Amino acid sequence: RLEVTNLNRSFGGRKVVDDVSLSVAAGQVTCLLGPSGCGKSTTLRMIAGVEMQDSGKIMVDGELVCDTVTRVPAEARSIGLMFQDFALFPHLTVAGNIAFGLRGSRGQKAERVHHLLKRIGLPHYADAYPHQLSGGEQQRIALARALAPQPKIMLMDEPFSGLDNRLRDDIRDETLEVLKEEGTAVLLVTHEPDEAMRMADEIALMRDGVIVQRGAPYNVHMRPVDKDAAAFFSDLN
Ligand code: ATP
Ligand code: MG
Repeated sequence: RLEVTNLNRSFGGRKVVDDVSLSVAAGQVTCLLGPSGCGKSTTLRMIAGVEMQDSGKIMVDGELVCDTVTRVPAEARSIGLMFQDFALFPHLTVAGNIAFGLRGSRGQKAERVHHLLKRIGLPHYADAYPHQLSGGEQQRIALARALAPQPKIMLMDEPFSGLDNRLRDDIRDETLEVLKEEGTAVLLVTHEPDEAMRMADEIALMRDGVIVQRGAPYNVHMRPVDKDAAAFFSDLN
């Protein structure tokens, strides 16, 4: 479970993330939804630990990961990351990529890699190199790589935006299924209402650094807090 309380960040005197609080339960997907520039990626990067926060508290499964005194480094937070620019390591095989962040014996690593490759439907790709794979295949390998160390939290920043429409739907659904199965708490950033409607258990609507509304997708869509929120959802079909 991820719990974020009163997270703040300014750049050059401008508040980009303004008192953001949110939580994601294990096996659930919360979508951080909002227009370009509203502060979504900055929020995610602070949770990941690759960007400093000005103030606020981040907890993972009841453990303090960051506040004004404590700061657990990114690699010790049990947080997996998937970004649009998911870049697999080109000089490593698929198996090498997935095993990259893993600890344990060779046998244990090989077993985890095999399990994940089977799960994402690419059991015979262990020895292939990234350039030999399609975009969709690379995306699935990126998911397997992020999941390999069994992170409690998965942070995803527009991970599907590089894919064409039909493929995107398939990969979204498949990704969701795998994440639910693993019981990972997912925080997914998107600026597309229909992606949030499709994937979220809960939507956190963000504008100018502030979360203006939170709730189940249906409620956020049908009962917008104000005209701007309504307009944001209006091109949804
Ligand atoms: P998008 O949907 O376009 O990815 P976003 O919601 O992810 O947008 P952020 O990347 O979080 O937006 O950026 C929020 C604001 O903070 C933007 O105005 C951006 O220019 C600014 N910003 C982000 N990082 C920095 C930085 N390192 N220095 C200065 N300004 C920054
Ligand atoms: Mg962004």
